[in-house]
Amino acid sequence: PLVLGIETSCDETGVALVRGDELLFDAVASSMDEHARYGGIIPEVASRAHLEAMVPTIRRAMSEADVDLSQVDAIAVTAGPGLVGPLTIGASAAKALAIGLNRPLYGVNHVIGHAAVNQLVDGPFPGRTMALVVSGGHSTLMLVDDVAMSVTELGSTLDDAAGEAFDKVGRLLGLPYPGGPHVDRLARAGDPEAIRFPRGLTAAKDQAKHAYDFSFSGLKTAVARWIEACVDSGREIPTADVAASFAVAVADVLTAKTIAACRAHEVDTLVIGGGFSANSQLRELAAQRCAEAGIDLRIPPIRYCTDNGAMIAALGSAVVRAGVAPSDLDIGVDSSMPMSTITV
Ligand code: ATP
Ligand code: MG
Ligand code: FE
Repeated sequence: PLVLGIETSCDETGVALVRGDELLFDAVASSMDEHARYGGIIPEVASRAHLEAMVPTIRRAMSEADVDLSQVDAIAVTAGPGLVGPLTIGASAAKALAIGLNRPLYGVNHVIGHAAVNQLVDGPFPGRTMALVVSGGHSTLMLVDDVAMSVTELGSTLDDAAGEAFDKVGRLLGLPYPGGPHVDRLARAGDPEAIRFPRGLTAAKDQAKHAYDFSFSGLKTAVARWIEACVDSGREIPTADVAASFAVAVADVLTAKTIAACRAHEVDTLVIGGGFSANSQLRELAAQRCAEAGIDLRIPPIRYCTDNGAMIAALGSAVVRAGVAPSDLDIGVDSSMPMSTITV
């Protein structure tokens, strides 16, 4: 079946067409340039941008994929988690298409979409798979028994997401927003062992309750304190060393906990997704530790890791093929949708 996927949970308007595990075309429009001026996403600005971009982006996806709307068999849309206004614009467009074309509608989970998109690149998951989704808004570890029907959240961040922590440290270091990629680049020139920053939730007392949860706000505060101490004593801030030591602290905790979860659940395939999986320190450490642990690591190219319609069409396609019942046409959106919800 040919599935049209629509994504609008944050600042990207994504529309893609997927048949089986094959991506026909993925069209994305972003309002990030408008948000960059404010140093953060403004929901109202994002909503208006989605509204303006929706029809042109659908048109572009259809013409580039060279298909007609009448050929679409099902519509999948992000129903959550995300920003309520942006989600509502996508859901409304998807409902309009479902009604107008008389095709089934599937409201799906954005974070699970970040894992499902991997199937377009590396093929179907080989049974039970571990998924780590890391982005500006999420750091979530999931056990995927069946991406269309059974996903269990093992842990998530208790405070900042990994990308968010990078953006905050970027600000501390005086780098432009979003700081993540800048901190990554700077870190490559620094010594990751220069400063020993804390590894959140790895102490023995935390392991019992939070074995697979993450916390990055204490780390960010430690970086802020370290920079302050530097300034107070009149020393020059070794920005590359700070970035490298911070980046390795994040990558260390993410990979250590994820691999421990793979071992505990006897899973030997790990999928990493979400915009933060562009991070080179994470990629490097994950590759090294997965090789040591005999885990098959799957990280798709970066354009599949950031928010896009392909991830939603990919999950929609899996759901349709699994025979899951379509959503009602009056579905709402859920800004904090739990990982136990794959479709609404
Ligand atoms: P979501 O709703 O899934 O959280 P998002 O828009 O917040 O979506 P993405 O677009 O998936 O997140 O990811 C962007 C985040 O990843 C930003 O915080 C950005 O700074 C960070 N990021 C991107 N590239 C890198 C990198 N190379 N190193 C570190 N952080 C990065
Ligand atoms: Mg984004
Ligand atoms: Fe996302």
